[in-house]
Amino acid sequence: MFQKKEKMNIDFSKMNGLIPAIVQDAVSGKVLMQGYMNEEALEKTKESGMVTFFSRSKNRLWTKGETSGNFLELVSIAGDCDGDSILVKANPRGPVCHTGSDTCWDEENSSKTGFIDQLRAIIKDRKNNPSDKSYTASLFAKGINKVAQKVGEEAVEIVIEAKDDNKELFLGEAADLLFHYLVLLEAKGYELDEVMEVLIERHSKKS
Ligand SMILES: [Zn+2]
Repeated sequence: MFQKKEKMNIDFSKMNGLIPAIVQDAVSGKVLMQGYMNEEALEKTKESGMVTFFSRSKNRLWTKGETSGNFLELVSIAGDCDGDSILVKANPRGPVCHTGSDTCWDEENSSKTGFIDQLRAIIKDRKNNPSDKSYTASLFAKGINKVAQKVGEEAVEIVIEAKDDNKELFLGEAADLLFHYLVLLEAKGYELDEVMEVLIERHSKKS
């Protein structure tokens, strides 16, 4: 899923050939670990799609997960403002730290709510670059009335499942409602942040 379109201006000469690379979970936004990359490690990371560092203790390239299987799947890479630090966004296949912790700062990394932002980007892309195969694009093509109607139908379906006791069916309907709600926002041309602003405003009035 990594796209080699990013422009990189990393200056390896500045730091004796080794640049700190900060790895962030592409979904949760948590900072997972920090390592060092030389030019070769950066190239291998981009080529293989698995985050690879230069290990100073091993004195060689080290693909994170090569022994544990807990690879970091590359999502994006960016150099910072002055080219001497790398931000890597990745999807971890397991706990990141050798201690077994989710992060090298012994933090939990279980939240998946950041996926909403990825989903919103996908929905926006389906609207702007529609394809025949995409269900989401077909919803946009049918127009606002159809999208709004779909949200209504999903709302009724979650009400029905709420009365029963089937976790799988309820969560399925909850996902359908959330998905179609996001499609409706996009169809109307509003951002989820604008809904958040309304909620934050209401909350600030109460406290
Ligand atoms: Zn660690």
